Formats: sequence, C-alpha cells, structure tokens
Amino acid sequence: MVLKLKSKKLPKKIFIKTFGCQMNEYDSDRICDLVSKIGFIKTKIKKDADCFVLNTCHIREKATEKVYHEIGRVKKDFKNLKKPIVIVSGCVAQAESEEMLRRESYIDMVIGPQSYHKIGDLILNYKREKKKINETEFDVIKKFDELQKITNTQNKISAYLTIQEGCDKFCHFCVVPYTRGPEYSRPFAQIIDEAKKLVNFGAKEIILLGQNVNAYNFYDNKKNYKLSSLIRELNKIKDLKRIRFTTSHPNDMTDDLIQCYNDCDKLMPFLHLPIQSGSNKILKLMNRKHSREYYLSTVEKIRKANKNVKISSDFIVGYPGENEKDFEQTLQIVKEVGFTNSYSFIYSPRPGTPAAERKLNNMIESKQNLEKLQNILEDIQLANNKKSLQKNCEVLVENKMYTQEKYFGRTKYMTPVIFESKKNCTTGKLIDVKITSFNRNNLFGNFKSNKLEAI
Ligand code: SF4
Repeated sequence: MVLKLKSKKLPKKIFIKTFGCQMNEYDSDRICDLVSKIGFIKTKIKKDADCFVLNTCHIREKATEKVYHEIGRVKKDFKNLKKPIVIVSGCVAQAESEEMLRRESYIDMVIGPQSYHKIGDLILNYKREKKKINETEFDVIKKFDELQKITNTQNKISAYLTIQEGCDKFCHFCVVPYTRGPEYSRPFAQIIDEAKKLVNFGAKEIILLGQNVNAYNFYDNKKNYKLSSLIRELNKIKDLKRIRFTTSHPNDMTDDLIQCYNDCDKLMPFLHLPIQSGSNKILKLMNRKHSREYYLSTVEKIRKANKNVKISSDFIVGYPGENEKDFEQTLQIVKEVGFTNSYSFIYSPRPGTPAAERKLNNMIESKQNLEKLQNILEDIQLANNKKSLQKNCEVLVENKMYTQEKYFGRTKYMTPVIFESKKNCTTGKLIDVKITSFNRNNLFGNFKSNKLEAI
C-alpha cells in the first residue's frame, strides 16, 4: 500500500536576542505572542531562524555600536545559509531610526518600542514587497490596545507585566524620555485582566514594570487608580503568591503606596529605589528632583510601614562635577541605608542628553571609586547573606536545574537560591530551604519543608 503523505507547511522560526531591562524582556515575549498569529514559533537556535530580532536597549554604554557588532555576527552566522529577515527593535531602533537602515544594509526593518504591536503585518509586508521598513511612531495607546487582544502566554512562574511606559522626569544622564516618550499608564482593568491570564497560565509571581512604575496614574470615570490600587487588587488574586514592582523614582513613593508594605501580604518586602548619588550637589546636577534627606525620610517611612523591607539602588560613580566629598557622601548613605542587591556603574555619556555636554571626570579616579563602592556593597551583601546561614528561608521554586536534584528559586528579597532536594519539587511552590552556604550573589541549601517559616 502506498501511503500518501500530506505536505504540511512547517512553521517559520523566530529568534529574539534581548538586551537590557525587564521591560525589554516583556516586549520580546509579547513579540513572540504576536508573530505566532502569522505562523512563527520561537527558536533558541539562531541559525534556524527565518526571522532574527535584536531587541535593543539604549541605557548601556555604546549601545548603538553594540547593535552593529551584533548584526556583524549574524551576517557571519548566516554566511552560507538563507538570510533571515533581520529586525532591530527597541530603544536603539527608536533613536537611530532611518540612519540604521542606511548604515547597515543587512538590517531589513527597524521598529520602535511603541510600534512593535504591528510586527506581524510588517513582516508580511516585507515578505510581499521586499522594501526596507522604518516603523518608529510613538503610538503607545494603540500598542497596548492591540496587545490586549493577544493572550500573554509567558508561562513563567515569575512573569513580567508592563503597566506604565515612558518618563517625564528628564534626569540629565538618561535617554528614556527621548526613546520611550512621555509617561503613559495602561488602563487599570486591562492590567488586572492580563494579570489574571498570567496566573491562569501558571504565574505565581507578577513583577509590575514601568520606566517609572510608581508614577502609574490612570483615570477612569473620574476614578483615579494608582500603583497602590493595582497592588491591592492583585493581592486578592487567589493563586498569585508574590507581587513586585520596578523601577521606582523616590519622588513617587507616595504614602498610599508605602502603606501597601504593611497591608498587602503578597507584596514582597524588597524595593529597588535608585538614588544614584548621596550628594545633593550631584543629585541637582543630575536633575533628580529629590535630595538625599528626602530619600532618607522615604526609606524611614517605608521601614515604619514594614521593618523587614530591604532596599536596593543604582549608583552612578564619576558623574561630571563629582568630587571626593560628593563621593564620600555616597559611601555614607550606602552604609546608612544598608543597600542590598544594588547596581553601580561609572558614568558614561549618552548622546543627546544634557550631561553628555559636560566635561568627563578622571577615569582612573572613577575606577578607583567604583571599586571602593562595590567593596562596601559586597560587604553588606555578604553580611546579609550570612544572616541566612543555618536558617530556613522561604523560596519560590522557579525551575529545575540541569544538574540532577538541583533547583533554582528566589527569596523574598530576590536573592537567588540553589538548593538540593531528593523529592521532586514542584515549580511554583513556596517552600522552606535550609541555607547551608552562600557567596555574594547566591544562597545554597537543602529542601526543608513546604511549611513556611520566615527568616
Ligand atoms: S526617572 Fe528613571 S527613566 Fe526617568 S529620566 Fe530619570 S533615570 Fe531615566
């Protein structure tokens, strides 16, 4: 008997490389959801891709050059293979726009962060007409309306949910207000709906995202919804276990939001609240619009609401105009607040920002200062991690590691925990892990029980 095989069209594959923050990761996941409607599936193997997307970030140093280098690597990888459709999306695409298509002919499309909801149609257009595409409009409302029509299928234990985009603060070192545009808050009901879908798909933790997440402010029928309203509503979702939000500006840490640290048991006692510098002179030069005293009084209020809250921050070392006295004030505030899990960098100019016009500090001194700061941050981190030793620590199990009987999860404070268990641990469960060792970045231990016992 001759079997007639029906020829089945194989799905096209998309490979996405993501640079930058969690917001870009959220966008990359949504791009996957969007292109699945036109028959694409995600691949982890670059050379299999029919479509290669580079989702870029403009925050880091030399972001534009990194994009061209990356495209150079893609060119090499596909030298003897069929060329994929090459798309650059995200903030660098927004900033470079047409120039990117002119400078690198291997790129077929640039798509700004407010236009990626159109990616399906753009790919189909490109396939039909083979004409380069520059889609860098600022249409944030339409984007979220379109995204709402497509289920967020992230299917992760810890899921991102963008609630706000853009920024009106204009810190002098930052490109966000230029690449992501003015502050925009998504409708309250739309966010709650997406959160419930994420939980139905298995999410146990939701991380609310925004460039200025605590500036969230939405009006509907004269009712005002803020970040605190969202947290209180999410706190009611039965199968959701943890809520976090990032990144916050000190000036938007309002009393209603701070109160959530007392009232909402699912809101984790960990807050990333960048201060950047401990010197009022530098904060002013950065146009941060808050003082060192204001920041400290905010931390005090938060800790009054919940004494267990730990704070992390970003620091810029060697900002133009910073002298030793200013830097000392940064070290002082680090010790005073006892920051955990923080990030620190040497200042580097971003083209187009006011700070880029200013004279750079001496690089050797900046490097020495960065080392000093990082040593202090490391000491605090190690001392914190040491406190967990031989204690039971609540961990949300995120995944099983490649090595047998090893799992990965995080504490309430976002610290990664690698632990062993003879039992098959279910991902998404909150468990107790007995901590047996640690280093700066991780805790290590053994499964203890499902019974929770806070450290
Ligand atoms: S508040 Fe944050 S996103 Fe806004 S300009 Fe300042 S650093 Fe950039």
